[in-house]
Amino acid sequence: MRRICVFCGSRPGVNPAYRAAAEALGQMLAERSIELVYGGGNVGLMGIVADACLAAGGKAVGVIPRALLEWEVGHEGLTRLEVVDSMHTRKARMAELADGFIALPGGLGTFEELFEILTWAQLGFHNKPVALFNVEDYYLPLVQMMERGVTEGFMKAENRGLLLVEDTLVALMRSMGAYHPPAVGKRLRDEKQL
Ligand code: AMP
Repeated sequence: MRRICVFCGSRPGVNPAYRAAAEALGQMLAERSIELVYGGGNVGLMGIVADACLAAGGKAVGVIPRALLEWEVGHEGLTRLEVVDSMHTRKARMAELADGFIALPGGLGTFEELFEILTWAQLGFHNKPVALFNVEDYYLPLVQMMERGVTEGFMKAENRGLLLVEDTLVALMRSMGAYHPPAVGKRLRDEKQL
C-alpha cells in the first residue's frame, strides 16, 4: 500500500489513549513509507496523526473543503493540501488517492466517512481494505450494531466482513495486507438474475 486514508475525530477525545493511538499510527505510516491521506485539518486527532507522520519524516496529504479551511484550521505544514469545493468532493478525492482506509475514534463525521466507504465496498465500487482501529474498544457498540444488522436480516453476513476490526497497529496492517475482497460485482449480477 502506497497511501492510506485515515478518518478520525476533529476532537482529541477524553482518553489520552486516543491521542497516543493517532501518534503511533502517524509514525508507523512514516516508518513504512506509506503516505497519509486525511481531511487536512489541524485540530483533534486529525492534527495529531498528521503531525506524528510528518515528524517521523513521512508524507501527509490533506483534502479539505474551502468552507472548512478556517473551522478545521487547514494544516499548513503538509506535504500537500488540496482545497476542494465540497464534503462530497473531499470524500471522493480521499477515496481515489488511498489504497486502504483506517478509522480512528471520532464522531459523526468519522462515522459518516467510514460508512460511506463501506457502502461503496458493498456495492463493489472499490476493492480496498477498510479497517477500524478499535482503540480502547471505542467501536465495540458499532461492531455490535453491524452484527445486529446481520442477525436481523438487514445485512449479508459477508458484508460484515468488509470491515476489519483490530486493536493493535501490527494486527491492523497485517489484516489490511491480507485482505481479499468478496466478489461483490458477481454477486450483484447474480441477484439481478433472480
Ligand atoms: P468528526 O468525527 O465529527 O469530528 O469529524 C471528522 C471529520 O469528518 C472532520 O474533518 C469533518 O469535517 C469531517 N466530516 C463531517 N461530516 C462530513 C461529511 N458529510 N463528509 C465528509 N467529511 C465530513
